[in-house]
Amino acid sequence: MAALFISDLHLDAGHPETIQRFMGFMQQEARGATELYILGDLFEAWIGDDDDDPRLTPILSALREATRNGVSCAVMHGNRDFLMGEQFCAATGCRLLGDYERIEINGEPVLLTHGDLLCTDDARYQALRGQLRSANWQREFLTKTVAERRKIATDLRQMSAAEIAAKTDDIMDVNQTTVERTMREFDVRVLLHGHTHRPAIHRFTLDGRPAQRIVLGAWYEQNSFVRWDEGGVKLT
Ligand code: MN
Repeated sequence: MAALFISDLHLDAGHPETIQRFMGFMQQEARGATELYILGDLFEAWIGDDDDDPRLTPILSALREATRNGVSCAVMHGNRDFLMGEQFCAATGCRLLGDYERIEINGEPVLLTHGDLLCTDDARYQALRGQLRSANWQREFLTKTVAERRKIATDLRQMSAAEIAAKTDDIMDVNQTTVERTMREFDVRVLLHGHTHRPAIHRFTLDGRPAQRIVLGAWYEQNSFVRWDEGGVKLT
């Protein structure tokens, strides 16, 4: 048993070097894994499963090859690629996870999430998230042409960059009270997420017992992943 966890690759047709690193990861580390969990923001933007940009095809093919070779691959929506849907799953053999997914590794219950829902100090972000995740917004967005959707995605990313620049680091990190409430709700001692781009293993006490929050890093400069096997958990 070896489970791999990645998130926040932010793969973008305009940045082929990151796509290359992902392909290398799929050919090497992922090849020996039994399970691969992609916990959101695999893509810098996903405007719909009908995006026909040929530069994205190798990414889907790499996932397809992994699932064909017996690696169980699961993807979760991030705040950038929440429109990944059935067609994406059919093309890659991946299965889609919910916003929270409770799994067991070596008998240990582990809660997986992208991480943005834990950033409850950032009220402006949570309000925008609510809007973009609404069925109405998504239905309307998907009726637009691919070109129109690309333009809107670019505008949203610019808006997001401006928002981020205006916020303090604290506001954009997880809220510890929300973390603990969520872990109690799902009855877990281990929480694994990405989104904040602050890779670390945080150890703390939850209701008198040891708990940990494992945070995946972003792939802008280098690969970041967690490998969990019989020997334990390792953040690289
Ligand atoms: Mn994110």
